[in-house]
Amino acid sequence: MKNSKENITFSTGWKFDNSYTQLPSAFFTKQKPTPVSAPSMVIFNHTLATSLGLNVEAHLTDSENVVFTGSQDLLGTEVFSGNQLPEGAEPLAQAYAGHQFGHFNMLGDGRAILLGEHITPSGVRFDIQLKGAGETAYSRRGDGRAALGAMLREYIISEAMHALGVPTTRSLAVVTTGEPVYRTSVLQGAILTRVAASHIRVGTFQFAASIDDDSAALRALADYTLNRHFSNQLSGMSSGQAAANKYLTFLELVIDRQAKLIARWMHIGFIHGVMNTDNMSICGETIDYGPCAFMDSYDPATVFSSIDQQGRYAFGNQAPIAEWNLVRFAETLLPLLHPDQTSAINIAQTALQTFSEKFRQYWLTGMRAKLGLYTEDADDALLIDGLLNCMEKYDLDYTNTFRALGTEANIKTPMLDFPDFIVWHSLWRKRLLIQDQNLESAKRLMLTTSPAIIPRNHQVELALSAAEAGDFSVLEKLLEALSKPFNNNPKYADYLIPATPSNTPYKTYCGT
Ligand code: AMP
Ligand code: MG
Repeated sequence: MKNSKENITFSTGWKFDNSYTQLPSAFFTKQKPTPVSAPSMVIFNHTLATSLGLNVEAHLTDSENVVFTGSQDLLGTEVFSGNQLPEGAEPLAQAYAGHQFGHFNMLGDGRAILLGEHITPSGVRFDIQLKGAGETAYSRRGDGRAALGAMLREYIISEAMHALGVPTTRSLAVVTTGEPVYRTSVLQGAILTRVAASHIRVGTFQFAASIDDDSAALRALADYTLNRHFSNQLSGMSSGQAAANKYLTFLELVIDRQAKLIARWMHIGFIHGVMNTDNMSICGETIDYGPCAFMDSYDPATVFSSIDQQGRYAFGNQAPIAEWNLVRFAETLLPLLHPDQTSAINIAQTALQTFSEKFRQYWLTGMRAKLGLYTEDADDALLIDGLLNCMEKYDLDYTNTFRALGTEANIKTPMLDFPDFIVWHSLWRKRLLIQDQNLESAKRLMLTTSPAIIPRNHQVELALSAAEAGDFSVLEKLLEALSKPFNNNPKYADYLIPATPSNTPYKTYCGT
């Protein structure tokens, strides 16, 4: 265990430029984090901090994640606990609304505080948010706090997603507060520093649409978001085009990014678990890691969330739900799309109708790569479905099956004992032969698109329970393995093994 109070100093490096505060005041409430009594850094993302241009001087450069075991009297700890504001921060809680399991509610950051937008040395803008930083105007009945296990869980899974190449918010640090939080049991309070391209959600637009009669706030938010996330695409348009179609272009771009994002989730077996409209980021990052988890054996009906009893957010339902959320988003934009509502609805519907085909194309492209296919063939979708049906029928592990197909040695797995799989396998081999690329190239493609290491539920739980008991070594090893998900390092062989089947299905919990 690398520990080192003496070895690490954290100085500033923050460069805040808080454009969100220029929006109409209804969009946020200024709010400082509530100080905590005994903050202690438990994990710090050295690599991310460096890429953000923060001045981190550590002698522990061999690890991406510096895991601490003791209390540190560092400026970083004070900042990441909310006890001290970094220079230039203008802390606020964002207002938003959202459909939660289909029901519309006025929400807002009930326990998260945006410190501001940090600009990296290369000029990229990121939101820096403290999650679990105390009560805000939007806390409703909540305590504004978060528990250590849940914040470390977000850290682990968001960083794993990043390493897997999926757009996501990042995790910079977790500090414990030294204060208890009361859930079904008494837990250690903690704060996660989340880094995001922005925290503008579908729900932020729903909030805008619900507060104003003349669409002024909505237009301000749409212009702001366009400028912040889609300025490249807009600058490619002529000024006439941009003026006429700006908000339609916006809708189309958001649809495209969501289609791409959900396809990426499907490629790796990720289940978000709580795809409420307030948990869908407009810029197309995965956000809000609550009850999310990775699927083991392939089953589109897989649900881990304890509260998702109807399977609304089941693995196989993620694309239709994203589309449902996008319809809610398009509804908010209607006044900007056309002054006449019927025309606006027609415009929105035409755009929305592209979602399922876009999603399918993104999905197919990724699935082809997972099967080593460089070319397109009309029967590819059937071939992919054939494999998925086999996996479902024989309870095959989603991650390991793809990985085995790309690894000659592992192909002699029990899969080959299943008659349907033998039939499928020969079809696939024939398909590989009709492309110019040889088998080696196909395997290379497969092994760079199908991960070996995902955050398997039982491994995540082991790391969290050890961390809650004060042992961070399990977490550190897990994070190290997850940072190179496509590597076949024998050192990480344990992480390839699915959990032994249990009579009690794995359950995840929201808002813990
Ligand atoms: P989530 O399920 O994390 O997306 O949260 C849904 C809503 O509940 C958001 O408005 C959160 O800010 C709020 N919320 C969740 N946990 C708490 C808490 N402990 N205190 C106050 N608000 C919370
Ligand atoms: Mg949320």
